[in-house]
Amino acid sequence: ARHFLARIAQHAELGAFLAVDEAITLAQAQAADARLAAGDAPPLTGVPLAHKDIFVTRDWPTTAGSRMLAGYRSPFDATVVRKLAEAGMVGLGKLNCDEFAMGSANENSAFGAVKNPWNPAHVPGGSSGGSAAAVAAGLSPAATGTDTGGSIRQPSSFCGVTGIKPTYGRASRYGMIAFASSLDQAGPMARTAEDCALLLSVLCGPDLDRDSTSLDVPTEDFTRGLNDSLDGLRIGVPQEFLGDGLAPDVRAAVEAALAELEKLGARRVPISLPRTELAIPVYYIIAPAEASSNLERFDGVKFGHRAKDYVDLEDMYKKTRAEGFGAEVKRRIMTGTYVLSHGYYDAYYLQAQKLRRMIADDFQAAFQQCDVIAGPVAPTVAWALGAARDPLADYLADVYTLPASLAGLPGMSVPAGFGAGGLPVGLQLIGNYLQEGRLLNVAHRLQ
Ligand code: GLN
Repeated sequence: ARHFLARIAQHAELGAFLAVDEAITLAQAQAADARLAAGDAPPLTGVPLAHKDIFVTRDWPTTAGSRMLAGYRSPFDATVVRKLAEAGMVGLGKLNCDEFAMGSANENSAFGAVKNPWNPAHVPGGSSGGSAAAVAAGLSPAATGTDTGGSIRQPSSFCGVTGIKPTYGRASRYGMIAFASSLDQAGPMARTAEDCALLLSVLCGPDLDRDSTSLDVPTEDFTRGLNDSLDGLRIGVPQEFLGDGLAPDVRAAVEAALAELEKLGARRVPISLPRTELAIPVYYIIAPAEASSNLERFDGVKFGHRAKDYVDLEDMYKKTRAEGFGAEVKRRIMTGTYVLSHGYYDAYYLQAQKLRRMIADDFQAAFQQCDVIAGPVAPTVAWALGAARDPLADYLADVYTLPASLAGLPGMSVPAGFGAGGLPVGLQLIGNYLQEGRLLNVAHRLQ
């Protein structure tokens, strides 16, 4: 714990951490020592990790990367945080992220951008950019992240770490500040698939009393199948993931990883996910719709920020929200309320829901022909920090991660070499429901 606290302080310029409390961390480390001495310690006892600042924690403030929650302290721990602490892990603090997890570059945090440790002039990806940067820079051996439309997979790819988003419902959403509830899912980010398997085995599991969408399936020991043979495994490669929009350097790294899998005995099968591009408009209707409803609670009364000067209640709401939310969050709220409004609901929201079902059905058709799907995580390597990008450019760059999110399928990113500028490239693996073990097995064999 002392080693990592020192590294966090040495690399403050990365902007990865939002809250560190040495006394809390060392107290947790001492408690872990005592458990080890008493001989009743579970396997992860004493291993440090840090949490994306979207999980509420009693020991550190929780901001969700928003001015709206600056200084907010939760009276309870998120289930994921509690489970990892009960497993003996030692918390190093809270990690920067895009405001309310909305973004693909970690440039939407109210507390400053995170830098990519491989090249600080580039973004680390988002929204779990602090998590990816912290693991890549060796500031923490592991981190939690959340993935609504790619926020574990894409920063893992951009920073050369391993991250997995389990099947929707595997991990409890209790205490995860809600962005788009039908998509939000927690997962681990670490150096290797083996580390991710250890963490995932702890953080999954039913939590039906607290999260009604939690899956009632027992947790698994995800390390069990890590070394299984890949002989005869059918790897489906969607043709839509290798189209024109894919940068040549990323394509080359992905092709090399696929060739490696073939050497390990897997068989490459061409498949089609015909509605891949439609995942972008579908997601950017559904996610903002849900966000506009979820963020209603930040009204200056119940949580966090309240405007100082106002004339009446309505004015207080308006000023509080105008001051507390950043530009991207406001954009999502406006889009979301628009697509849900009377007269537009049928044209946008309802159509998006129908397409969401079709996208999920396309995956089931594909899984008739293959066991695991593989392809790129993002069309390019990490782009330059501060590049004047249109928000639409960021939305379009989510094209390969959004389909699995909409279908609720497990997905992961595993390092697959380097592209332009020596920046990391991830290979995305997508499995059928509850097939996380298979994904970790493929990733582990590749590592
Ligand atoms: N980039 C996507 C968005 O901005 C996904 C974010 C996420 O998964 N939290 O919504």
